[in-house]
Amino acid sequence: MPHLRNLFDLSGQVAVVTGGSRGLGREIAEGLAEAGASLFLAARREQWLTPAVNEMRAAGFACEAMICDVTDPGQVDAVVRRTLEVYGGVNILVNNAGATWGAPIEEMPLDKWRLVVETNLTGAFLFSQSAGRVMLARGGGVILNIASVAGLQAMNDAVPSTIGYVASKGGLIAMTREQAARWGRRGVRVNCIAPGYFPSRMTEKVLPMVEADYEKRVPLGRIGREGELKGVAVFLASAASSHITGQTIVVDGGASIV
Ligand code: NDP
Repeated sequence: MPHLRNLFDLSGQVAVVTGGSRGLGREIAEGLAEAGASLFLAARREQWLTPAVNEMRAAGFACEAMICDVTDPGQVDAVVRRTLEVYGGVNILVNNAGATWGAPIEEMPLDKWRLVVETNLTGAFLFSQSAGRVMLARGGGVILNIASVAGLQAMNDAVPSTIGYVASKGGLIAMTREQAARWGRRGVRVNCIAPGYFPSRMTEKVLPMVEADYEKRVPLGRIGREGELKGVAVFLASAASSHITGQTIVVDGGASIV
């Protein structure tokens, strides 16, 4: 039986993290690297990507990166190709890149709906397809989809609706099950994390509107903190979860149970 320490060890593994340049994706990338994985980060804008790479390297981690819009199939394939060139494989894919847009449902601009669904759902599909082909050909891998509690329950009506976000995150949870069911026998596990509120660029405008009320309601009495996601990500990416697939782990301080 493996020792507990080895169950969480990702030494020799290669992890692609979309949206790994800041926020939750960056924390997850750091956790995977701390567990021993080599990183390949992908995001659209250099202004966050380059500093993230520099800081990962300064911390002693193997880290490469490429500018990539997850909605563009050619750019997605280019990241997977480059990861193979640099590291010789891809063992872990974290579909974390995400976007949102708020407006009353009846006024939601179609282009914003499309942008959000294309980023959160189609982007994850494209990356899963591209990296998944490599994993299937080599007999194994792990995919981690970053959804949201918004994919499981309707959102607080104190803020404008994020209908495209909600729909895309629900889709991501369903896609996780479908991928897991189809690819399990071929060695690929697929799981999902559904975070509640965490501070990030995405939530900096919405948190002041909802945080006080949320704190009163949520069983653990607060929003998520930096460092509270990477442990779950390492668990799901590692042998510690080798008999778990198709699941969504909610990390929301209990908000969704009340
Ligand atoms: P941020 O906005 O801070 O980070 C989003 C990341 O995704 C950035 O690295 C961004 O880089 C990248 N990204 C956005 N669009 C694209 C694209 N088209 N192609 C490639 N990369 C892209 O938000 P968070 O860290 O909060 O969000 C990370 C994930 O966590 C998202 O999927 C979000 O839905 C989810 N989440 C967040 C919660 C929270 O409370 N913060 C709660 C629940 C889920 P760039 O802009 O340079 O492309």
